[in-house]
Amino acid sequence: MEFCPKCGSMILVDKDKAACANCGYKMKKKPKIEASEKIENKEAVPIIKEGQDETNPVVDMVCPKCKNKKSYFWTSQTRAADESETKFYKCTKCTHTWRIYK
Ligand SMILES: [Zn+2]
Repeated sequence: MEFCPKCGSMILVDKDKAACANCGYKMKKKPKIEASEKIENKEAVPIIKEGQDETNPVVDMVCPKCKNKKSYFWTSQTRAADESETKFYKCTKCTHTWRIYK
């Protein structure tokens, strides 16, 4: 519920307008529905590019999610030179992805 910033009375919200019931002060209505639709239509950016799996070797690593014994494996070097690389694993069965720090 909104209140008039001028006199403090309750704002009457109609379909396309909002105005104070007491002094007639007109409020700008926020386009709430339009904003939420835009977010939903936004495409999610995938972390792992499609087709990358074929280039990664399959290793004996048990998936923590489905207990599958085979996983794709790759590494990623962190920006700092003295830091060790991060190991990535992706389950061949359920595609669950996780990482291991040295
Ligand atoms: Zn799995």
